[in-house]
Amino acid sequence: DQVANQIAAGEVVERPASVVKELLENSLDAGATRIRIEVEAGGRKLIRIVDNGHGMGKDDALLAFERHATSKLRTSDDLLSIATLGFRGEALPSIASVARLSLETRAAEDDSGTHIEIAGGNILTVEDAGLPIGTTIAIRDLFFNTPARRKFLKSESTELSHIAALVTHYALAHFNRHFELHSTTQALLVAPAVASAGDRLFQIFGRDTAALMIPTTAEMDFTRAGLPEPPPWKRELDYEAPDPGFLRISGFVSKPELQKLNRNSVYVFVNQRLIRDRLVLHALTEAYRNIIPPSSFPVVLLFLEMPPHEVDVNVHPAKTEVRFRQPAFVHDFIRDTVRTTLMQARP
Ligand code: ADP
Ligand code: MG
Repeated sequence: DQVANQIAAGEVVERPASVVKELLENSLDAGATRIRIEVEAGGRKLIRIVDNGHGMGKDDALLAFERHATSKLRTSDDLLSIATLGFRGEALPSIASVARLSLETRAAEDDSGTHIEIAGGNILTVEDAGLPIGTTIAIRDLFFNTPARRKFLKSESTELSHIAALVTHYALAHFNRHFELHSTTQALLVAPAVASAGDRLFQIFGRDTAALMIPTTAEMDFTRAGLPEPPPWKRELDYEAPDPGFLRISGFVSKPELQKLNRNSVYVFVNQRLIRDRLVLHALTEAYRNIIPPSSFPVVLLFLEMPPHEVDVNVHPAKTEVRFRQPAFVHDFIRDTVRTTLMQARP
């Protein structure tokens, strides 16, 4: 019902950038290789996303607006091993309950597509339409029917900068896909697919920054991790040894001469999912200790890969928080890997 949808929207849809995030993740889950985003008025007036993914048939398109109908969670075990970015089946119903939404979609196997219009959660139009394969979703007048939430939005330029940072994050994580972000008539990001994460770095940050970045890579088996002994009170109980599996780190870290005044240039991904995590930031701060001043920040592009059971991504619906099953191990391995990379690069 609409009340439940609007309550869920409070969790999922904080601001225009959270709408962009959900739509972008859906396009990536749909296998899109080209994603174009257009916004107006910092996303308050319009967010439109066009993808060339696998699209939806009419029944699936209608089902997508039923809360939890598309949830990929079948058992509580699934919570710990989620391979796609979306998993709650909550985003589209939530967004549709607090905005005017237009969906145009066509699956490859269908002759024609489907056009759906929804306002404040009410379906206004469902019709067949001649459309290209893929999906276009337009969100207009975000929070038009929830004035209390609308009041909390920041200025258009602030909301736009959040959107731009977010799209940049995803473009960095998926170098082999084409991303575009336009605000009204201005192109903020045009990033055609490239061959490597290093090429993407160059493409987005430019030559000067790319020249000051050092590649870093390492991997470690979770079972060989110098793991802590089971705590004494657990020794006789059913202490479970960790499952095998690798923690892999790859990416780029900046040389000491490249310093930033805030942490906006620290990009961290776990299994291709963008995260903001205090533990990882702390590990990086320790790696750079006595290398850059404590008041400044490095530029970091770090990809962590680990078995899904080693990381819980279900902490919050907005999904930028994660919980590691073995936080100390992850923390120390990041710190030591980055520190070693920095030391080896010393002149
Ligand atoms: P979730 O991503 O958690 O499954 P959403 O509410 O974000 O839930 O999306 C609901 C469903 O709609 C998805 O599971 C997917 O099947 C479908 N869907 C949404 N966006 C797209 C898209 N751009 N292309 C194809 N299918 C999509
Ligand atoms: Mg989703």
